Amino acid sequence: MLRPRETVLAVPPYHPPLADRSGLRLDFNENTLGCSPRVLDSLRRLTADDLARYPEKHNGELKMADFLRVSVPEVLLTNGVDEAIHLLCQTYLSPGDQAVIVVPTYSMYRIYMTAVGAEVVSVPAARNFEFPWTDVRKSMNQRTKLIAIANPNNPTGRVVPPDDLLRLAEEAPSAAVLVDEAYFEFYGHSVLSRRKQYPNLFVARTFSKAYGLAGLRLGALVGNADQMSALRRMCSPYNVNGIALACLSDALDDRVYVEQYVRDVLESRARLERTLDNAGLTFWPSQANFVLMKAGSTSASAAQFADSMRKRGVLVRDRSADFGCEGCVRITLGTRQHADKLLEALLRTLDELRIPQGVAQL
Ligand code: PMP
Repeated sequence: MLRPRETVLAVPPYHPPLADRSGLRLDFNENTLGCSPRVLDSLRRLTADDLARYPEKHNGELKMADFLRVSVPEVLLTNGVDEAIHLLCQTYLSPGDQAVIVVPTYSMYRIYMTAVGAEVVSVPAARNFEFPWTDVRKSMNQRTKLIAIANPNNPTGRVVPPDDLLRLAEEAPSAAVLVDEAYFEFYGHSVLSRRKQYPNLFVARTFSKAYGLAGLRLGALVGNADQMSALRRMCSPYNVNGIALACLSDALDDRVYVEQYVRDVLESRARLERTLDNAGLTFWPSQANFVLMKAGSTSASAAQFADSMRKRGVLVRDRSADFGCEGCVRITLGTRQHADKLLEALLRTLDELRIPQGVAQL
């Protein structure tokens, strides 16, 4: 009988709750407004001939390299950061190798690492989800071939000091170190400019968050040119579809749009954090476009909170199942109007569920 590889069977099924998402989408860290109108114009200009051709990503890589101020051989366009993670696992991990993550973190690291037969070493975050530098270092050994760190991290919104990330790359020269900067635009700090000193360092970026293009599936991976040529061998020449490629240039050129959206998100984030603070609720100050908060001490409280918000037309994500996140929900931020709606629903929910609050202010 046909049987999938054991390592594939070891991967737990992962079904993000994407069904029935009517309401204000604050559950998947997407852009809540939509992409730049210039991107929509480039979509409208597409012809049947454009769709008939296989996608050619060289021009897109030229554009991306120019935007990131890196050389073309250092950059690979990918089908979202997810594909970049997958490619790194396929390129650097053999069965029995170790791959290190710090939990809680983005679920796809573990999935792709497990699928290729690596042993996933999950280092628990330190107090307040801080980066457990000493424990991470202790977990590293000769078998460590990949270390994946989201910075800012999902679902906590916490960040790692750049020097800690770079020290990891320095101390584990035979491991690929992925710094996943999916939320870079909301944080503003990157290790990209330091890449030349660390040939094992990779940086990933995405168009799924600030740019409002999660549905297009477009991301970029940057690393040492020699290493990137190995990744290119693993990668389909057609990994990024022609529609995404047609939008890339306008998405990058409309700086005003992205900068305004990021400003809106940062203002909304400050309002939410202030409201949670005033309400006396536990949350973790975030550097991304979302905030993780504690709705109670059990997973039932988080589920109840998410249900109550949904009834009010606001979708948030129950993160109780994540390591160390029992009772937590993650709330994505968007524009000022979206924050108005969120905060109104939040205060009513706190009231309905009698979650203790101090002087909550909008
Ligand atoms: N990395 C992190 C840390 C994320 O939170 C996400 C999306 N939730 C991704 C990568 C996936 O990004 P993409 O849509 O580009 O595949």
